[in-house]
Amino acid sequence: MATQQGFEKRYSPLIILLLVAALVAVIALWARDKAATGKSASVAGVAADDTSYEWKLVTTWPKNFPGLGSAAENLSRMVDEMSNGRLKIKVYGGGEIVPALGVFDAVSQGVADAGHGAAYYWKGKVPSSVFFTAVPFGLNAQEMYGWLHYGGGLELYEEAYAPFNLVPMAGGSTGVQMGGWFNKEINSIDDLRGLKMRIPGMAGEVFTAAGGTSVTLPGSELYTSLQTGVIDALEWVGPYNDRILGFHEVARYYYYPGWHEPGSILEFIINKDSMAELPADLQAIVRQAARASSQDMLDEYTARNNEALRELIEEHDVQLRRFPDDVLRALWQGTRQALDDLVARDPMSAKVYASYSEFYKGVRNYHHISEQAYINLRDVVLGDEDY
Ligand code: CA
Repeated sequence: MATQQGFEKRYSPLIILLLVAALVAVIALWARDKAATGKSASVAGVAADDTSYEWKLVTTWPKNFPGLGSAAENLSRMVDEMSNGRLKIKVYGGGEIVPALGVFDAVSQGVADAGHGAAYYWKGKVPSSVFFTAVPFGLNAQEMYGWLHYGGGLELYEEAYAPFNLVPMAGGSTGVQMGGWFNKEINSIDDLRGLKMRIPGMAGEVFTAAGGTSVTLPGSELYTSLQTGVIDALEWVGPYNDRILGFHEVARYYYYPGWHEPGSILEFIINKDSMAELPADLQAIVRQAARASSQDMLDEYTARNNEALRELIEEHDVQLRRFPDDVLRALWQGTRQALDDLVARDPMSAKVYASYSEFYKGVRNYHHISEQAYINLRDVVLGDEDY
């Protein structure tokens, strides 16, 4: 008891001091909250949190197309969920508002707010765009994401598209594509001579230099074009998407590897004015939803390609073939020439190439002892054994 009284006597001034300090803190917090409430009320009419927006998004793919078409649908759904319905994005398939290959102009001119497609479709307007989708023998999917998001690639992409009033973002990745569908075997580079093939981007120029003819056609026109002989060969994506379009019904040989598209990145493009109209939180939601839906596409292809390939081979008697090394070496020589020509004629391409090439050197060096070494050792160690 005596000890208790002594304790109280010694510490009561301190307890009073603490109580006073706590009271001061509570009053300060109350005053701050009051100020903040007043502030938000005063700007409520200017940037109300419940203002809602509606965007049109046009795509280069048929409506509800699996795989490539999933990115725009996922973006729309994610943005709706994350913004609690404040930003609605309506997705239109190729041909619904504008033709499949009219997406770039439509978004640039504000006919639509956003678009989904592939940058290399626009190489006639933006020569450097090929680097933002895929260049032959270039970076794979993992490396492309690294270059875009941590290697300066996205800043260059934005610079290249700024004159067109467009904000670009990665909009998916296919991983390594397949080399394409042919109706004859390719045993030497001479077998490409005279072939008319749907193969876009820089690879198309390389194919043409090798003696063939390249064309860029949207996915919706490919089956009929090959069936009727308008083209002799085509490349699209890989087993999961190619099976859906039914190319195995009109071509016999399915070639790998996709030397021409080792890790193609799809793109979202957004009209700069449409983006600027959004409050900062909705802009952040658009960016994060784009990034998430971009990664999601690669995840889906990784999960679905093998089963589709098995079905093509076992149920549809598709003949799987690998391009001979001599053919691939010749195509690399053509690629070297195409890169040199592009860099010489277009200053922006020279700037993008310098960044891409430097990143390539570093990531190739590291992947030599990491990803590449590991994938090789699986074959060495496991051989034909299952995991
Ligand atoms: Ca392709």
